[in-house]
Amino acid sequence: MKPLIGVSPHYDGFDGTVGVRPNYFPAVEAGGGLPIMLPITQDKQEIQQLINSVDGIMLTGGADIDPSLYGEDKLPTVSFFFSDLDKFELELVRMCIEQDKPVFGICRGVQVINVALGGSLYQDIPTQYEKGHQHFVDTSAHPTHTVNLVEGTHLKRLLDSDIISVNSRHHQAIKALAASLTVSAVSDDGLIEAVEMPDKHFIRGVQWHPELMFRTDGNQQALMQSFVNACR
Ligand code: MN
Repeated sequence: MKPLIGVSPHYDGFDGTVGVRPNYFPAVEAGGGLPIMLPITQDKQEIQQLINSVDGIMLTGGADIDPSLYGEDKLPTVSFFFSDLDKFELELVRMCIEQDKPVFGICRGVQVINVALGGSLYQDIPTQYEKGHQHFVDTSAHPTHTVNLVEGTHLKRLLDSDIISVNSRHHQAIKALAASLTVSAVSDDGLIEAVEMPDKHFIRGVQWHPELMFRTDGNQQALMQSFVNACR
């Protein structure tokens, strides 16, 4: 039996569309898992039932997170957010962490993990992090900047490199790191690009998009495989 991976959906709150964007399912499949899309619910019993039904959770990229959920007023640079999805994912992550269910957060997903644990975000890198270079590159099948892997982390042990190249399609990033998280990768301009919870089986996230690079990049393929293996 392949590990069943619950994939959090993309949600368009304007027209109500719930779905999974391209490449997430193939990336899970390439890692050896069987992906299934999760519905959005605020009912804790239903969230528990979803957690019980899968072997691990993958949080996908998407819209900004409601800044009030990390205690800030919305800046004009925050385009839009959908609180139903935000609240669902935050509760899902908190319950998974309590139960040590594997979670892999991609892009928005790493931000959800940080906010769920009490951290905050740069609402907009260009206006709030002046020394930052361009982190929003639309065609993100190719690497656009490097990240330094942090000594002593699971990520560094897995990839066995000091520095790797990643794609980048985000205008937000982790600002205040949640106390229980450890930084495992930092971009060449100093932003947090990957985190993990050292005392948990697999609570990890990356700011880049491995699902857009796994076909041509062995590091990203290894990342997907390590997540699915942790769900076995
Ligand atoms: Mn980046």
